[in-house]
Amino acid sequence: MKIYNTLTKKKEEFVPIEPGKVRMYVCGPTVYNLIHIGNARPMIVFDTVRRYMEHKGYRVNYVSNFTDVDDKIIKKAAEEGVDASVISERYIAECKKDMASLNVRPATTHPLATQEIDGMEEMIRTLIEKGHAYVAKDGTVYFRVNSFAEYGKLSHKNLDELEGGKRSLLVSGMDQKEDPLDFVLWKPKKEGEPFWESPWCDGRPGWHIECSVMSKRYLGEEIDIHAGGEDLIFPHHENEIAQSEAANGKPFAHYWMHNAFLNIDNRKMSKSAGNFFTVRDILEKYDPMVLRFFMLSAHYRSPLNFSAELMEAAKNGLERIRTAVSNLQFLLANAKEGPVEEAEQGLLCQAGEYVKKFDEAMDDDFNTADALSAVFELVKFINTNTGDGHTRAFLQALLEELTSLTDICGLTVETKEQLLDAEVEELIAQRQAARKAKDFARADEIRSRLLEMGIVLEDTREGVKWKRA
Ligand code: AMP
Ligand code: ZN
Repeated sequence: MKIYNTLTKKKEEFVPIEPGKVRMYVCGPTVYNLIHIGNARPMIVFDTVRRYMEHKGYRVNYVSNFTDVDDKIIKKAAEEGVDASVISERYIAECKKDMASLNVRPATTHPLATQEIDGMEEMIRTLIEKGHAYVAKDGTVYFRVNSFAEYGKLSHKNLDELEGGKRSLLVSGMDQKEDPLDFVLWKPKKEGEPFWESPWCDGRPGWHIECSVMSKRYLGEEIDIHAGGEDLIFPHHENEIAQSEAANGKPFAHYWMHNAFLNIDNRKMSKSAGNFFTVRDILEKYDPMVLRFFMLSAHYRSPLNFSAELMEAAKNGLERIRTAVSNLQFLLANAKEGPVEEAEQGLLCQAGEYVKKFDEAMDDDFNTADALSAVFELVKFINTNTGDGHTRAFLQALLEELTSLTDICGLTVETKEQLLDAEVEELIAQRQAARKAKDFARADEIRSRLLEMGIVLEDTREGVKWKRA
């Protein structure tokens, strides 16, 4: 299995620190609002990476934080006149609902920054003791960037270039830092803000120290994979490396993975630019699996432009897979018993080639676009090779093969419990016929059955209207 490593700018064979185990950290969202579909991209992508690794037999310890103390959370809390924790708890709960809709599995651990302050203090103290950090007059603690020789190694930036852009701050005396590149580890409280006591001042941590500390606490000092969107490469991940490696004296993460942006009109979707759709907005119009399929239809390192056309294409693609699944289920209901026949064995071998193709695509830096193409080839193969007269064992094997691939992608495709529009219309017609025949018991039974399947009926003067609950 090869992974593109931002640190080396190369695809590298994945070798875990401990055989059979993966320690993986994914930077999570700052929770002050509903997540948008740009935030959903890393969630879906790295959930799929995790699923594939588990499919290959690895035990994955998957940690993803929530940043629950931050300027934007505090601002929102002030606007609503509530405590910052009210805002963060609300949006963590909402984010978890969106993740569940998108079939993004909960992490092994979802640490919260506010619960890890002790660990942050300890790491900051170590950094000060080792000369990698210093306390300014007002109690702010800064990381001393020029004490860490490898600073810039992840973003492949040259220190002189970085310095140039920031020098004006020092010249103007607006900054109390030794060097314009130094960044905050701990900052003093402002009036009305949440704070914690510390040896330096009452205050709160900087953003970067959170992830260094939570990663260390739940995964250890040295981890396999650290991931997030590509906007995090600099400064967030660069700073995490400086903090962790300077404090622990060990390499931090072996592989750094970054997803490209989800764009809209070819510009990064972001809250600050205002050009976003929340996951909720999209789920009003589409099945969540359509959104997941759309995200996986591109390689995670390629920019992906959101559009109604691409969502339609995703919807059709998903429908094709679901149709193949429901056809197989239909055939299975009437299939003959007995072992797989010889001719069927040959067909299963051929089907196995598509599974191999899927694995090859995923082994090549999780190329989900090519992996989905292999799924379509398997679907086409199934559609052309499952006419009447097959054994249950054969059909079952094909169904399992197909759904094992869609499971790795986190796409639920079993249609058994879902009524199609046409099936709903048919049941409504039967209910109308029962009423006409004054068979009200039967009419009620159909109404209850529809309700169980999430279909709500409304009798209006224009006739029966229905909607999905
Ligand atoms: P934030 O809450 O802004 O820190 O973002 C949480 C995660 O979403 C980070 O990994 C970001 O890199 C990622 N992210 C934010 N916007 C986008 C976008 N438009 N496309 C892809 N990833 C994004
Ligand atoms: Zn982070």
